[in-house]
Amino acid sequence: MVVVGIAMLQGARHAHVNALENAANELGINIQIVQLRTKLDFDSNQIDALMLPGGESTVMRLTGNNEASELLPSMFNWLREDPVRPVLATCAGAILLVDPQDGGEALIDAEIDRNAYGGQIDSFEASLDCGFPGIFIRAPRFGEVRDSIECTLNGEVVGVRRINRIALTFHPELSDNSKYHRMLLEACI
Ligand code: GLN
Repeated sequence: MVVVGIAMLQGARHAHVNALENAANELGINIQIVQLRTKLDFDSNQIDALMLPGGESTVMRLTGNNEASELLPSMFNWLREDPVRPVLATCAGAILLVDPQDGGEALIDAEIDRNAYGGQIDSFEASLDCGFPGIFIRAPRFGEVRDSIECTLNGEVVGVRRINRIALTFHPELSDNSKYHRMLLEACI
C-alpha cells in the first residue's frame, strides 16, 4: 500500500486524486490518498509520497504557512530529511519547490518566473516534445535549470526532476494521461 499525501491548499485537488487512482490501477497497486490540511494531518500519517497541486502560489504560501496550518514547512522538512522522498508538484506547486521562501535550501534547483506566459487569457494547450498533452494555466516559466530536465515544449524546459522530486509548469491532472502520476507512484514501489 502506497500512501500519498495531497496538499489541500488550493488548485485542482480532486483531478489529482482521480489521476492518482487511474495511475494506481494502471500499475496494479493499492494506494491510500490522505488529504493534508494541517501539520497534524501530516504528522499522524505515514506518508510515502507527496502531491503538491497548483493554484496561486501567493495564496498557498499564506494558507500553508499560517500558524494554524504549518503544512508547507512540514512538507518541506519531510522532503529535506531524505533526498529520495517523492513529490509531484504542478504549476504553483513547482514555484513553491523552487522558491520555498522558508530560509532553507531550494527543493528544486532552478530559476522560475511566475505568470511568465501572460495572464489567464494567455493560458494554452500544446503537445510537449514527448507528445504529452500540456495544459498551461497562467503558468510559470523555468529560467536556468540546474537539476535534470524532465520534459520540454519546443525545446523549452517545462518539467524538472531531482531524483524523485518532479516539478512541472503544466497541469497533467487535467489531461487523461496519468504518466506523471504513475512516475510518482513508481518511485514508491
Ligand atoms: N499563476 C500561478 C502562480 O503564480 C500559478 C498558476 C497555476 O498553478 N495554475 O502561483
